[in-house]
Amino acid sequence: MSIRDKRLHLEMGKVVYGPVRSRRFGLSLGINPLPLMRKTCSFDCVYCQLGRTDNLLVDPSGLRDYPTPSQIADSLRCKLKSPGLNPDEIDVVTFSGNGEPTLNPKLGESVRRVREVLGEFGLDVPIIILTNSSLLGCGRVREGLAEFDLVVAKLDTADQERFLRINRPVVDMEVMDIIKHLATLKKLIGDRLIVQVMVIDSTDEGLRNYGPEEASRMAELLSGVNPKLVQVYTIDRPPSESSVFKASGEKLSIVAEALKERLGEDRVKVYY
Ligand code: SF4
Repeated sequence: MSIRDKRLHLEMGKVVYGPVRSRRFGLSLGINPLPLMRKTCSFDCVYCQLGRTDNLLVDPSGLRDYPTPSQIADSLRCKLKSPGLNPDEIDVVTFSGNGEPTLNPKLGESVRRVREVLGEFGLDVPIIILTNSSLLGCGRVREGLAEFDLVVAKLDTADQERFLRINRPVVDMEVMDIIKHLATLKKLIGDRLIVQVMVIDSTDEGLRNYGPEEASRMAELLSGVNPKLVQVYTIDRPPSESSVFKASGEKLSIVAEALKERLGEDRVKVYY
């Protein structure tokens, strides 16, 4: 995917973008706390809608040229004043954007500034973050995440081989460590933790993450983490790699049923 496509796709040149309609969260105003016009991430997922990762990073202290808390606050203020936007229609403010948002070293301060700006406009909407979970072992990252109303954390598989092939972490990582760190985060933020599972189909068996045994193992491990909710969904935008595609309802159900067995019907939501 070229830079031009990326810009068209997700407004990668903006600090505040949207609002975009999300099936999971309603009308969402996006905050991109990462450098503009490039993708900065600790993963390079095969299904990523932003194309390949240009800026491979696992340590927030190595991030350069990112929006400061003041720039984020100013951009949000400007957006909320812009003609054509009715702030009262916004359901949620989401930190996401050009990669992995926990790579911003001033995440906690940024979310506090966003909350102040929302207050200036009399808006009381949840501020959420979508994270790939890879940096949860870092105490400072967890402290930043604790400032959010909701943390939506990725876990696509509990199988190490598949994790390496689907999420393609930019340095060696163990998926079992990520699961352990999710449990630590849960202790810190309680019911503000949601886990998201992306189910993918592929021409390559090694990328399919819906096998019953694997689903059952992940359900067992996630019941130990005990998130408020698990959201199961699939690809709905053009992926980075052409060998992966949307999983059928039947395949989503295999994963969902395994999770429901462990976590209960009402704590698993499927987006077909
Ligand atoms: S974690 Fe998100 S932004 Fe990073 S590569 Fe995966 S899908 Fe893309």
